[in-house]
Amino acid sequence: MRELVVISGKGGTGKTSLTASFAALAAGRVVTADCDVDAPDLHFLLKPVQRDEHDFFASQVADIDGDRCTACGSCREHCRFDAIDSCHVVDEVACEGCGMCELVCPHGAVQMRSVSSGRWFLSDTRYGPLVHARLNFGEGNSGKLVARVRDEARKAARAAAASLILVDGPPGIGCPVIASLGGATGALIVTEPSPSGLHDLRRVAAVCEHFNVPAAVCINRCDLDRELAQRISSEAEKDGLPLLGCIPYDNNITRALLDGQTAVEYGRGPASDNIKEMWPGVLKFIE
Ligand code: SF4
Ligand code: SF4
Repeated sequence: MRELVVISGKGGTGKTSLTASFAALAAGRVVTADCDVDAPDLHFLLKPVQRDEHDFFASQVADIDGDRCTACGSCREHCRFDAIDSCHVVDEVACEGCGMCELVCPHGAVQMRSVSSGRWFLSDTRYGPLVHARLNFGEGNSGKLVARVRDEARKAARAAAASLILVDGPPGIGCPVIASLGGATGALIVTEPSPSGLHDLRRVAAVCEHFNVPAAVCINRCDLDRELAQRISSEAEKDGLPLLGCIPYDNNITRALLDGQTAVEYGRGPASDNIKEMWPGVLKFIE
């Protein structure tokens, strides 16, 4: 089973549109995972029909048992987040779940309770199963939820005898990106010809290298600045990153999105042709 993670150094490079088109090209033998759990949007294109829904527990909050509490104040004194008020009631929003109050309470009046940090879903799409998730507002456990989504995608792939897992990764280089990459067969970095595009490509390529995940590059909207696109291509080659595709700017991508279709399904314009042309190279890259 191969696992391709589509990532970008920053948001808005067209990573999700590309992943959705790849899912269309691999239909019937693919499981897709939306690991952009802070802002998931693959479902807009893949229109999943939900099969399962589960809570995701990654946080804890403290509960104080009023019958046991003697109001000694030790927990309040030790809480670095000012989450316990003068009546020894825990503010669930302020509580960071560090467990210090439980540790210092001399009367065993504090208990830690798991709380839901989000939800993950197993769904069916016209191309195969999709595992996706949604993190609750303000939650900071996106890396753990990404790891869960990938685990569930692997289970779904085994159950469906799928040979490929396509991961729509989060943008940037933070914890959720690292959680998306570990153990993957390869990463496709989607960039665009802008100064920040080159800078972000270098940063995310360094993360891939650090975690020993082979990386390749796709330049989206490559005709917006051909000189810079050429420079990105040369830099990528210098760094040993194969260039798997150059997709021109094409309004048909937007039209496809508005129509709720992937670019290759919509099938009009040069971008769709380019994505189809680059697909055999992508498969070869993760062989
Ligand atoms: S778990 Fe930590 S943050 Fe929460 S109330 Fe106890 S000491 Fe404060
Ligand atoms: S440390 Fe325990 S007994 Fe003391 S105020 Fe906190 S909960 Fe109550």
